[in-house]
Amino acid sequence: MKQTARALGFDFCGISKAGFLEEEAPRLEAWLQQGRHGNMQYMENHFDKRLDPRLLVEGARSVVSLLYNYYPQQQQNSDAPKLSKYAYGHDYHEVIRDKLKTFLDLLKAGIGEINGRAFVDSAPVLDKAWARKSGLGWIGKNANLINRQQGSFFFIAELIIDVALDEDGPIKDYCGTCTRCIDACPTQAIVQPYVVDGSKCISYFTIELKDQIPESYKGHFDNWAFGCDVCQDVCPWNSFSKPHQEPLFNDDRGLLDYTTQQWQDMTEEVFNALFKNSPVKRTKYKGLKRNLEFLKRG
Ligand code: SF4
Ligand code: SF4
Repeated sequence: MKQTARALGFDFCGISKAGFLEEEAPRLEAWLQQGRHGNMQYMENHFDKRLDPRLLVEGARSVVSLLYNYYPQQQQNSDAPKLSKYAYGHDYHEVIRDKLKTFLDLLKAGIGEINGRAFVDSAPVLDKAWARKSGLGWIGKNANLINRQQGSFFFIAELIIDVALDEDGPIKDYCGTCTRCIDACPTQAIVQPYVVDGSKCISYFTIELKDQIPESYKGHFDNWAFGCDVCQDVCPWNSFSKPHQEPLFNDDRGLLDYTTQQWQDMTEEVFNALFKNSPVKRTKYKGLKRNLEFLKRG
């Protein structure tokens, strides 16, 4: 299993027994009740399924968690409105979905007919919880999964399959006394260690929010136009990040060299062409324009 994952380009693979996520259930419930998900209503859906993969895949026995590195070698023009690193290249959903499909096909070819489903950043699966359980890292105070060898710039994916496998166990939390992410968050969205108020996070404002960004956040966006990497950039464990090897995650459109003026002048036609296969299309032209306008006003 792990060799196949490696051969397909996944950096880490860990296995858990499929079952109810007891520890996470009360935490998820409290987080939702406190409205930390802002207007991301989809987070409220499939509550039971999210806590138990056996409700998603009939006969599920194992959750195979996979990490795919996206830490880029390329750097963005430091004066321009900032894009989160995961959005420099091709949409990761497509890239990883294809690999997961191949993974399932190889498993079927190797061990016979199995029932399974593949997920990548998909609402019904608590991907970080499964990756943690499978020993791929711990959940840091910034609520990201942190891998001891390579930090946190990873996409997380899962295969949920009806095959019993040996489990890997969780590892301990290595945040220690560090509070760098909490101290550096430009909008104080990390309201207590391990709890990010999604409704205060720049990623939420610049990608998920459909309305105007509240004026009270003016001057606090640190020039982020799509997503935000601050709490990962400051994490000491990310000094171990290594550049990814996925050509599709590279910016091949010269986007990272764009000046502020070029961003501001971007027409809808150019946006559609540039971001056709990019995660940035999620915010739509209107969202990007709103974000840029918000940054322009200070
Ligand atoms: S992504 Fe940015 S705004 Fe959100 S919690 Fe991290 S540092 Fe704060
Ligand atoms: S910056 Fe420090 S406290 Fe935050 S996640 Fe990284 S190690 Fe943990």
